[in-house]
Amino acid sequence: MTAGGWRDEAACLGEDTGLFFAPDGERETARIRRETRARALCARCPVTGDCMAFGATQRYGIYAGETENERRARRRRELRRAATARRRDPEGAVA
Ligand code: SF4
Repeated sequence: MTAGGWRDEAACLGEDTGLFFAPDGERETARIRRETRARALCARCPVTGDCMAFGATQRYGIYAGETENERRARRRRELRRAATARRRDPEGAVA
């Protein structure tokens, strides 16, 4: 991560950014090892909320301990939940 704003507090400040991005042709065992190390940093990071919000705008990489696939899956779940809530309560008058 680069420095600036909330990033100044990041647990990954000064770490190799390669830890958070999959290189081309990465083998599964290497990916698991890399993601585990990245998640360990994220688990002790004080700015995961800011990082997660930023990561929502990013296509690739691990942010707040989420891979891009996990981020997309979470976003799909959130959209499905919102669509279900709208169908159940089209006026938005949640009791
Ligand atoms: S949550 Fe993880 S990726 Fe985000 S700033 Fe913290 S250590 Fe870095």
